[in-house]
Amino acid sequence: MLPKQHIIINLIICLILLFFIQPIYVLIIFLSSVFIDFDHYLYYVFEKKRFSLKSAYNWFLIETTKFHNLSVEEKKKHRYFILIFHGLEPLILLYLFSFYIPILFFIFFGFLMHLIEDSIIATKFKYLKRKLFLSYAIYMHIKNKVK
Ligand SMILES: [Zn+2]
Repeated sequence: MLPKQHIIINLIICLILLFFIQPIYVLIIFLSSVFIDFDHYLYYVFEKKRFSLKSAYNWFLIETTKFHNLSVEEKKKHRYFILIFHGLEPLILLYLFSFYIPILFFIFFGFLMHLIEDSIIATKFKYLKRKLFLSYAIYMHIKNKVK
C-alpha cells in the first residue's frame, strides 16, 4: 500500500482513537503506522548502495507494480524484499519489549495497523505469507535469484 493511502486511513483511525487514548500516544501510533515504511529505504540503501530518498520511492513504486503483475508461479521465484519492520516477528518482539518499555506498545499498535492494511493488498496479489513472516521473506530472498 502506498504511503499516502496509509496516511489517510491511519489519520482517520487515529482521529477516532483520540476519544479513547491520550493525544501524545495517538501521535506515536500515527507516526509508527506511517514511518514503519522506512525499512523500504533501508533495503534500498543496502541493495543499491544509493541514498536518494526520492529514487528509493520511485524504485519501490516500479518494482512493486512489476511484482504485483507477476503470476503466482513467477512470484514464487521472485526474491522479494527484506523489510525488517514488516512481519509478525518484529511485532511480537515489540509486544514483548513493551512489558519493559511501555511506550513500545503504541509503536506496536501503529505497526499492527500498518501490517493489517498491507496484508489486504498482499492477499489481493497473493503474497500474504511473505508479508506476514519476515523469516519467510528472508528465506525466499536467499533462495530465489530472480530480482
Ligand atoms: Zn508497508
